[in-house]
Amino acid sequence: MLSIEEALKAILDHATPLTPVTMPLDEAAGLVLAEDVIAHGNVPPFANSAMDGFAVQAADIQQASEATPVRLHILEDVPAGSVATQPVRPGTAIRIMTGAPLPDGADTVVHVEVTRTEGNDVLILLALKNAVNVRRAGEDMKDGATVLTAGTVLRPGEVGVCAAAGHATVTVYPRARVAVLTTGSELVDTAQVPGPGQIRDANAHSLRAQVAAMGAEPVVFARVPDTRKAVRSALEQALVQTDVVLTNGGVSVGDYDFVKDVLQEMGAKLVFWRVKQKPGKPMAFWTMGSKRIVGLPGNPVSSMVCAEEYVRPLVRRMMGHALLYRPVRTTILDERYAKGADAGRAHFVRVRLQERDGALHAALTGSQGSGILTSMALATGIAVLPEETPVVEAGQTVHVQLTDLPEDH
Ligand code: AMP
Ligand code: MG
Repeated sequence: MLSIEEALKAILDHATPLTPVTMPLDEAAGLVLAEDVIAHGNVPPFANSAMDGFAVQAADIQQASEATPVRLHILEDVPAGSVATQPVRPGTAIRIMTGAPLPDGADTVVHVEVTRTEGNDVLILLALKNAVNVRRAGEDMKDGATVLTAGTVLRPGEVGVCAAAGHATVTVYPRARVAVLTTGSELVDTAQVPGPGQIRDANAHSLRAQVAAMGAEPVVFARVPDTRKAVRSALEQALVQTDVVLTNGGVSVGDYDFVKDVLQEMGAKLVFWRVKQKPGKPMAFWTMGSKRIVGLPGNPVSSMVCAEEYVRPLVRRMMGHALLYRPVRTTILDERYAKGADAGRAHFVRVRLQERDGALHAALTGSQGSGILTSMALATGIAVLPEETPVVEAGQTVHVQLTDLPEDH
């Protein structure tokens, strides 16, 4: 049986980035650039006004004040999108709006708040230094400069940079397509009232949400009963349509746990089965050509914890992300936690973090059973208790992954 570190490494060793694709900029938000982005032209393309006011020659207004206004003759108006028809000369000004090109001859813009107009003249009430309120051509981006490098995540700011730099399409690592394939003859749809021996399928929904939160595209397949035939046909479809297949349930040692057998029949290469962890011991991982298959245990919390700990880094790396791990903080555990019979496995413990008296505290969110979804819902972090730690006393420190925050390493 692998340790949690070995299992993660085995998975990441098979996390090959997907082949980059070129797509419309607006579809690429959240994805990772696979190529540098070069500015196509200067941004802004021309010197322009940062204010509504008057384009002037600074030399004209060096003595201007409320008490000694400088009078200039207004030649014309230049709104954004237009170009002045004549240069500013000594003793003259052009009325200019924000974003309009600075007229020839002008070097400075006096904002309207420190001016007064009298007919076709403007009185300047404040001395401004040369180049005030002027945006230089290329002050944001220089033509030909690399403005974003490969590996950068396209957050809204980066999307804006691409747009301003003239990139209607970008080359990025695509969204991974991730199959969610739920098995279990006992499962019924959420809208149904479970009959005898039945329970509602929670995992199809929690997993779909987790996959979407990874930035990947969930492809949810119809749930299958625990028969070889149904499991095989669903797997065959899922492997054609997606990059990563998440099976859910049926990887344990029960008589109806067919996922392992079927994948072996299909020729998938088993990388590992079972990890020294709680929850999630029966997790498995296979490769089949370029496809990756994660066998998630059916217990609802096991499924979610394994998706967080293993699937999320796998998918992120396939999608070109450099940062794979949530922030980790050392926190004070508020209650005793004893592994009992499960000592010898690493435990992922659901906790809620709270800042108290200048220290970060972690409180258990309730029962840690692998079927207790409510304690998963309450958690803001996962405390990782290593294999060799059988018990943590109240007040001792534990390392907690902050699962609500974006990856930072
Ligand atoms: P399995 O891994 O298939 O042996 O399932 C382990 C436990 O998780 C059993 O109690 C199942 O009923 C339960 N379980 C499996 N799949 C789901 C699911 N999709 N939603 C809720 N519970 C599930
Ligand atoms: Mg099952």
